[in-house]
Formats: sequence, structure tokens, C-alpha cells
Amino acid sequence: MRAVSVNGDAIVVTSLLWQTTATAIRAGEEAMLIDSPYFPDELELLPTVLAQAGFSVNALLATHGDFDHVLGPLAFPELSLGVAESTMLRLRAHPGEAQRTLRDADAEHYVRRPRPLALGGVQSLPVPGRLGLGGEELELHSADGHVSDGMAVFAPWLGVLACGDYLSGVEIPMIGPGGSVAEYRATLARLAPVVERAETVVPGHGTPASREVALRLLDEDGDYLDALERGEERPRLPAGRDDGRQRAIHRENLAAVGGGGRRG
Ligand SMILES: [Zn+2]
Repeated sequence: MRAVSVNGDAIVVTSLLWQTTATAIRAGEEAMLIDSPYFPDELELLPTVLAQAGFSVNALLATHGDFDHVLGPLAFPELSLGVAESTMLRLRAHPGEAQRTLRDADAEHYVRRPRPLALGGVQSLPVPGRLGLGGEELELHSADGHVSDGMAVFAPWLGVLACGDYLSGVEIPMIGPGGSVAEYRATLARLAPVVERAETVVPGHGTPASREVALRLLDEDGDYLDALERGEERPRLPAGRDDGRQRAIHRENLAAVGGGGRRG
């Protein structure tokens, strides 16, 4: 796990698995953790790392319901997890999905956990909307298309945007269950003006990016979606994202959008 301070009041922690990010945002005496690292030792260490930096976390958010983003309660079991309404609907429609997928990933990586994931106190948040934090206000923007649910979280007073599984320098757009190219494009279009206002964009996987880099990723992702919709089997993938794993994701995307361009 790597912890990088992107601003005196924002720390990005990156997991060793899939470069999954967790972003801590501070305002006044309050701090909020968005998403989560994966490994048990990372989750165990997280409260100490953040406390040493003067962040006393009193709220958790998840950008979307994929299991690798909802592990915050394993680090802060006393806190409830705030999610977009769309994520709440997904969690209700597929109870136990996050726990099952986590168990499968753990089995694949031979990971043992001191306790199973419990998503006890999940709170549904209106998106688009605003959320108070220590006298400031976070903006919540809807971000679906990768999957059926999701939100991007923008801290305007810090210029930090945590956008979930979009605008990654290490992963091409992934059309997962319930996602679609049309919704993915709509999310990119919605994020563009927010990125313009941001100093730092934190993707769900990868490295925090400057506004300029994030805008370039946004263009590259649009171009990739064009190639995906044309059904290209071997499209040119963006620099830094052209490897075997990304090719495999592309094949999964082709299968997902096959024909109708939508996967239910
Ligand atoms: Zn993810």
C-alpha cells in the first residue's frame, strides 16, 4: 500500500492489488474515506496511516458497488457506508454479491481475512447531490455505464475528483454487468466539465492524474469506445494500457456489447 498526499487535505492510498485507490478528504475536523484498499493488512493499517496524517475519518463512501470499492467497513467497522441511490438499488437487488465476489477473489489470491465483510449500515445518498463535510460541500455526480450504478465525488475546495472506475491510466473502459457504452459515454460527458474544474483526478484504479492528463484519458476513452462499438477485434489501445490483461478486458467488452450494445 502506498499513501500519497495530493494536497494537505487529501491523501490517496493505493492498494497493491489492481492499484485500487482509496481517497481520504478532510475539511475542518471531519474526514471522509472514499473507496478502499483490498488486502487485510492494508485495511488494518489504514486507520493508523490516516490518523498519523491528522485525518480522523468519520464517514465512508463507495463510488460504486463492485466488491473492491466497498471494503471501507473492514477498516472502520463502526462507520456506515454512504452510496449512491443507484448503488443501494444494486445492493438490494443482489444481496450478498459483494461478499461472494470478495470470497472468490480472496480464494484466487490465497488471502485470508480476520473477519468477513459486513455492509451493515449502508446509507443511500441522492445523486446528483451535495454532501456536507466539516463546513464544506462535496458534489456527487452520477457515474454509471461501467456497471449499473455509481457516482463520482468532487471536493471543489480542494479540486480533487474521485471518479470511480473511469479515467484510469492503467485500465481501459470496462463494460461490466449492467453497464453500457451509451451510459459510459454519458458519464464521460458529465465528468468532462468537472475534470475542467479539478486539479487532481483520482481514478478507482491507477495513479492520481492532473487535469491535463485526465482530459487526455477522457479523449482516449472516447476513442476506445468508438472502436468497441465498431466491433474492432484488435483496436489500438492507449499508451500504457496496451497489455495482455487490457486485451482480455477488450474481449470481455466485445462479448458484453455484442449486437445490442447493452448488457443487462
Ligand atoms: Zn474497480
